Amino acid sequence: MQNHRVIDGKAIAAQVRDGVTKDVERLKSAHGIVPGLVVVLVGEDPASKVYVKNKGEQTKATGMNSWEHRLSAETTEADLLALVGKLNADPAVNGILVQLPLPKHINAERVLNTIDPNKDVDGFHPVNVGRLWVGERTLVPCTPTGSVILAKSVQPNLSGMNAVVIGRSNIVGKPVSALLLRENCTVTIAHSRTRNIQSVVKGADLLIAAVGIPEMVRGDWIKPGAIVIDVGINRVPGENGKTKLVGDVNYEECARVASAITPVPGGVGPMTIACLLQNTVEAAKMQHAIKD
Ligand code: NDP
Repeated sequence: MQNHRVIDGKAIAAQVRDGVTKDVERLKSAHGIVPGLVVVLVGEDPASKVYVKNKGEQTKATGMNSWEHRLSAETTEADLLALVGKLNADPAVNGILVQLPLPKHINAERVLNTIDPNKDVDGFHPVNVGRLWVGERTLVPCTPTGSVILAKSVQPNLSGMNAVVIGRSNIVGKPVSALLLRENCTVTIAHSRTRNIQSVVKGADLLIAAVGIPEMVRGDWIKPGAIVIDVGINRVPGENGKTKLVGDVNYEECARVASAITPVPGGVGPMTIACLLQNTVEAAKMQHAIKD
């Protein structure tokens, strides 16, 4: 059995948050700026409520301003768009995040595209997607950024590696592919129509799995010594009638073959909010034309 390293997403997320706290102190002392993040929650989705609470607490812990707008599930699209417009115009607000999913009667794309791209801390606005692909300074989606930070914690220079990304969503697969290209990886994007996906994955020095199928990737798909980053979060039946979380990768099997692997939970998950905080600081810097 090969020795593998378990990539500790909790510890690395804590380092990212420490960096954010230092940046916030510097912005305050050198420029008199306190970055601020607004999270908008529409409706009563229980998982979203937990995320929003965690985001608020972690934002405050870094010394930034944090505001929440909790709107009823009956809020109209027009009212939500009006709120986004007000937040766009408010100079104290550097980052705006509208928590997804939105109720069905609201067109999520229209709402996200109304957010000022320079305040779009989720990095989903088409302007930011374009900036990412052409290599301009921008706000990059949080989970992809976190995934690349975890890969670089094992191998700081990813240049020349064969990276395989499973999944081509706008939230994870496409942006993580753009980031890996920026890191000079040779990037292959696999998806539901990919033929013979096992042999594609077998060529990966670095595998990013973002599929949403519990434990799809098996140990014999993995190239010995590969780095495996598992973005998947899937709820499956566990012991005593409870549910448990598993990734898109069969951890036990793949850990035997990989040189380093992220666990689920405790891998990519904790990185997402840490990178959101980083984006809020970056948004404040971009809005005030501060370089680093
Ligand atoms: P989507 O459902 O939007 O995308 C899934 C992708 O997987 C699609 O591109 C799809 O291909 C591809 N796919 C589906 N079935 C197969 C298959 N059999 N073989 C190969 N590819 C397949 O999911 P997301 O990108 O939003 O999320 C992916 C996973 O990451 C989920 O488990 C989600 O919970 C998790 N996640 C975790 C986050 C975190 O903070 N850690 C944040 C966001 C997501 P096609 O395009 O052809 O349909």
